[in-house]
Amino acid sequence: LDLVACRAGDRIGALRVLGQAERHAHVDPVTGLPNRRALESQVHSLVGRETPYVVAFADLDHFKSINDSHGHDTGDRALRLFARVLRDSVRPSDLVARYGGEEFVAVLPDCTKTDARAVAERIRSELAAALRHAAVPTFTVTIGLADGNPGDTLADVVASADTAMLSAKSLGRDRVLAAGD
Ligand code: GH3
Ligand code: MG
Ligand code: MG
Repeated sequence: LDLVACRAGDRIGALRVLGQAERHAHVDPVTGLPNRRALESQVHSLVGRETPYVVAFADLDHFKSINDSHGHDTGDRALRLFARVLRDSVRPSDLVARYGGEEFVAVLPDCTKTDARAVAERIRSELAAALRHAAVPTFTVTIGLADGNPGDTLADVVASADTAMLSAKSLGRDRVLAAGD
C-alpha cells in the first residue's frame, strides 16, 4: 500500500507540474492576459459555432520612447495598465489577448461594426482616464477594426484589423479606423 500511495503521489505531482506548464504556455507573464496561442484556440471554438465577430487590433503609440525615456520596468507597468483598461472596457464574454510586444487583440462576438467603433473609442477614453491617476507616463493607442465572417480564419481578420491600424497610424495615431473606411 505504501508503494502504491508513493507511486500515486509521484504521478499526481507530475500531472500538477504538467498542468501548471500548460497554463503558463497560454498566459502572458507580464500582463496576465491570454497570449496569442490561447486566443487562437478560444476563437477556434467560437468560429466552430459560426458566430460573427469583430476584431479590434490595438497598438500602443510610440511605446519604444517610454522604454527609452523611463526604462523597461515602467514600460511593463504601462502594458499592465493597458491590459486592465482593455479587459474592463469590453464585455466579460469578449476575448482579449496580448498578441505580441505592445499589440493587443480583442475579439468581440455578435457585435456590429458601429458597436465595435464605440467599444474602441471607449478603450481610448478609459486609457486616458486611467493614466490621470497612474504613476505611468501618458501614452495613447491606435486601434484597427475588421469584421470576421464565416469562412475567414482568425489570422485573416487580424491581418485586416492590423492593416486598418497601420492606416490609422499613418493618419496621425491615437484614433480608431475600420477596414474599408
Ligand atoms: P508606433 O507608434 O509606430 O507603434 O511606435 P512604437 O514605438 O510603439 O513601435 P515599435 O515597434 O518601434 O516599438 C515597440 C516597442 O515595444 C519596442 C519594444 O521594446 C516595446 N516592447 C515590446 N514588448 C515589451 C515588453 O514586454 N516590455 C516592455 N517594457 N516593452 C516592450
Ligand atoms: Mg507594434
Ligand atoms: Mg506601437
